[in-house]
This record gives sequence, C-alpha cells and structure tokens, in this order.
Amino acid sequence: MIQPIIKNHIRYYEGNIPLILTAPHGGEVSPDNIDDRTHGVFDLDDYTLELTEEIIHEFYLQTGKTPYVIVGEISRTKVDLNRKRDLAYEDERAKVVYDEFHHLIQKSEKEINTKFSKGLYIDIHGQSHPKGYTEFGYLLYNDMLKLADEHLTYHQDQTSIRTLSNFSNESFLDQLKGAYSLGTLMCNEGYDSIPSTKIPYATDGNYFEGAYDTIRYGSLQGGNISGIQIEFPYTDIRDTKEHRQKCAKAFVKSMIKFMRVHFDVDLEE
Ligand SMILES: [Zn+2]
Repeated sequence: MIQPIIKNHIRYYEGNIPLILTAPHGGEVSPDNIDDRTHGVFDLDDYTLELTEEIIHEFYLQTGKTPYVIVGEISRTKVDLNRKRDLAYEDERAKVVYDEFHHLIQKSEKEINTKFSKGLYIDIHGQSHPKGYTEFGYLLYNDMLKLADEHLTYHQDQTSIRTLSNFSNESFLDQLKGAYSLGTLMCNEGYDSIPSTKIPYATDGNYFEGAYDTIRYGSLQGGNISGIQIEFPYTDIRDTKEHRQKCAKAFVKSMIKFMRVHFDVDLEE
C-alpha cells in the first residue's frame, strides 16, 4: 500500500486511479507558532481524517489501488482549507499550510488529466443535521433540488458535475439523483442519502450544497474533472472505528460502480 508523505501539516497519498479525495476539516494539530483565527467557522469534522484513512485502506482491499488523497492534519482554528485565501487564515504563518494543501490538489488534477484525461474530485466533510442523512453536494441549493425534473435539468451549468455527462450516456439528472447517482448507490448500501431516488431533497431544509473546494476543483468552470462534496453524519458512520470501516466498505463499493457507469473506468481491473 502507498505510504503518505506528510509536509506542512498536510498528509498526501500519491494515487494511481483518476480519483482525488480531500478532507480539509478533520485535523486537530494545533501548532503554537500559528495564531488562532478569530472569525469564521472553527468546527472540527470529527473523525473525517480517520474515515478517509479507512476509505484508502478499503480501496486497497477491493481494488489493489489508491486514490490521490490530501488530508489536513492541522486544526481549523488555525486555517480553514475549504475557504478562499482571505477567509482561510489570519496569521501569515498559516500560508505555507494552505498553499501545500491546494498545491497538492492541483498537482493531482494535473497528473489525472495527463494519465487518464478525466476524473473525479471528492471533498469529505462531517455534518450534524438532525436526520442523519449523507449529503452529496453538487453546488445546487436544496430549493433547486425540489424543482421538477424539466426545470432542474437546466441547472447543470451551475454544478460541480457540469461536464460529467460528456463521458457516458447517463444524463445530468441520472448522475445527480438517478439509479447510479452516488446518493442512490449509498442508499442501496443502507446509507440514506440526499439527493437520491429515495430522497431527492431535504424535506427539513437541512442540506449542504458544497463549498469553496468543490467550486474550485469540480467542473463548474469546465475541464474533465467533476467534483462532489460529501457530508457524512456522525451517528452510525463517523462515531466508531467499526462504523467507519463499514461505511468505507459501502462507499468504495459505490464508487467502483460510479466510476464504471459514469467514466467507463474499471477500478477492479
Ligand atoms: Zn467541513
């Protein structure tokens, strides 16, 4: 299995498949030489670093391969790796950490474009909404997900999977919430998810549509790498090692199907 390189509080795995995973909010390292942020959100996405590690392990078990992975070990109180630079940190000494994280995503995307000419970027987070659904973010607000299909279909150009439908016969709506959308694939594994055929939008309005990293590294501005933000709930998914392992297994199974259907890439080869 590929070993990580750790530099500037960022953990990096050089992958060998057209998939990038990032986890910007799972770190707890709090260096004394960087001052705390005083504005913004400071919440730790508990155990998303550990869940991401389980996913890497599970990829290796199921495929013998490794995605590109960039994980922040640093605490969000020092730098928010999922914000634009002027909102990400206040102490200039955090710049090197922020740059390391984003440089490695860009480097990974460049390598994927060269080697595979298409790929997927996934940004892993943790949420604490009451219903405990896994939320897949494509940059569409919950109110847009409520639209009738004939209207929703016109919003493809506002999403982080803008160009995904170029690589298969699946339409944008299929990819967003159809039978082989990530949400439905995870529902089939027992993890109720939004959007999906079962739950097309959040009935209570609690839903995260995606943020800076998904905007920047998906296909909103074009290119052949689409992006999806995932917000995993805490209970029964992130809370214990056993639950993280079980979820990682389901996620990798779903991802193998997703890559086959939407990218014509067989990760099990
Ligand atoms: Zn987060």
